[in-house]
Amino acid sequence: MAEHHQLIVVGSGPAGFTAGLYASRANLEVVIFEGDQPGGQLMITTEVENYPGFPDGVMGPEMMDIFRKQAHRFGAKSIYETIERVDFSNRPFKLYTTNNKEYTADAVIISTGATARRLHAKGEDEYWGVGISACATCDGFFFRNQKVFVIGGGDTAMEEANYLANLCSSVTIVHRRQEFRASKIMSERAEKNPKINFLLDSVIDEYTGVTENGIKRLTGVKVRNVKTGEITEHSADGAFIAIGHDPSTKFLKGIIDLDENGYIVTQGKSTYTNIPGVFACGDCQDHVYRQAVTAAGSGCMAAIDAERWLGEHS
Ligand code: NDP
Repeated sequence: MAEHHQLIVVGSGPAGFTAGLYASRANLEVVIFEGDQPGGQLMITTEVENYPGFPDGVMGPEMMDIFRKQAHRFGAKSIYETIERVDFSNRPFKLYTTNNKEYTADAVIISTGATARRLHAKGEDEYWGVGISACATCDGFFFRNQKVFVIGGGDTAMEEANYLANLCSSVTIVHRRQEFRASKIMSERAEKNPKINFLLDSVIDEYTGVTENGIKRLTGVKVRNVKTGEITEHSADGAFIAIGHDPSTKFLKGIIDLDENGYIVTQGKSTYTNIPGVFACGDCQDHVYRQAVTAAGSGCMAAIDAERWLGEHS
């Protein structure tokens, strides 16, 4: 027998918990599938300084714990399983976990987030969060007046480099080819910025660092020229990997409208997908802003959209 819920939220980052909070306060019966990484991307972040309401900053995992508690306070429940497969062809919607357990729902909110692509170079795991980041808007401030590297040649890399140039003493873009994938306007802006340098035909071979009083810190990068094989060593306080994100939407391919990069397409300024009764919020549908606060905002929107839709259709 399938277990039925009025509203199922798939994903447990700021978007999913906020959707759960608003939906439960609107008296909907709601469960949140927390998935492979309960709490989402903020679980691998250190300090969050830019979420309003936390003047002294807050650790990412602690913030997600607070979000979860707030949603649970009003009756939202968490199920610590991953949705692997869905059937949205009829209502109630069907959702299946990795253990093939079937759940049904009158409405669904997808908030599965996205994952920053990693290079997996030597030392990357060691210095992740203590020098290496995938978000300049989130972490750039920690590197004021310091020397940073940005890896990638797309629009994100150019945007992050330009953003960091306003904060840091120098920014070096490391890109594996001569040509940029980024739009002309974005790459030209970076090229014209006197604080931005380029290492082209180059990849990161290794991140190096030190441990002081038990705390690790990035201090350098080894860069390999892919044409000559030459390895050069550079001092670096920060490294920002900007080689793209993968939205966690593979299980929705062919079921719901996705754009060419796999992001869920939502209609106008709403969180409606092409399937009535299925809503999407957070980084699985937003490749532009990607912030905890914008994800939470869109989670609120999805809950309001779902509540109104359920009011009209049940
Ligand atoms: P992209 O996929 O566009 O670019 C990724 C970049 O990373 C490419 O230059 C790629 O190199 C490089 N890269 C990928 N994998 C590796 C690897 N393993 N090692 C080294 N380099 C690697 O991703 P973005 O995040 O930049 O952009 C995603 C989408 O969002 C795009 O459509 C973009 O236009 C859009 N966007 C728009 C913005 C705006 O308009 N303001 C801002 C940011 C993003 P290569 O080129 O050799 O494949």
